[in-house]
Amino acid sequence: MKTKLIALLLLTASLYAHERITLGPNGGRLIAIDSPTTPNAEFSVTKDNRFQIGFLDKNLKPLPVGKRKLTVTAGDRSNPKKLTSEIKDDLFITEVAPAGNDYHVIMQLREPGAAKGKTFRLHYNLSKCPECKKPEWLCACGGKESGKNIQPPAALEGLWAEINQHTKELREGVADKAYEAIDEVTEAFPVLATALPGKTDPAKKAEAGKLVDELKSALDGIREAFAARKPDDATLHLEAVEKILSTLKSLYPPAIANATLKE
Ligand SMILES: [Zn+2]
Repeated sequence: MKTKLIALLLLTASLYAHERITLGPNGGRLIAIDSPTTPNAEFSVTKDNRFQIGFLDKNLKPLPVGKRKLTVTAGDRSNPKKLTSEIKDDLFITEVAPAGNDYHVIMQLREPGAAKGKTFRLHYNLSKCPECKKPEWLCACGGKESGKNIQPPAALEGLWAEINQHTKELREGVADKAYEAIDEVTEAFPVLATALPGKTDPAKKAEAGKLVDELKSALDGIREAFAARKPDDATLHLEAVEKILSTLKSLYPPAIANATLKE
């Protein structure tokens, strides 16, 4: 069972180009959980080296532990250990973390009345990021040029290439229920789209602006559905995105509107 979990974990790593780490309201690492009633966990480490896990709602407000149960397994792949934990101030606090500076922490949440547990994971890598000096598991440097911080390319062709790349990631993220990837894509995409009208032929600028506004509200719908961990609710909004994009593309030469990122 343990080996199966680890194999699954390795398969799901690094599928997305713009991977980043999101920090929670208390400076820990935010982890998405596939549950509308417990959508987020915040993971941190106490001064005395214990894992600390709290749950947050879709607006990142703390949730009481209530009748939730949590199993934490961590340590070297050959010998992962199930950690004991206690609840204090609505946080799960484990026994002292296993030795080692690069392993996976696998957490399983059981909610009252739920037939199945929800598994979520963290790559606990203690090597220091040369840039921010934080351990890699807490390094948010990857978010500096992604999400809402993305820099729209100056040239129209480059901008469309980014938009097309983000459309692809949006489709894949929705299909895979990749909550963290959608969180990022739906932050970056509106920034890119907003830059379009300014680079558009003056005669078509007003129409582009109107379509971009519609596009942003459809992207918002996807973002909301995913934040609430109700991915099925995103389907209609994704269809709207596709439809608006195809109208928007018709305002530009096809070679520009269908540009792709250079490898
Ligand atoms: Zn860093």
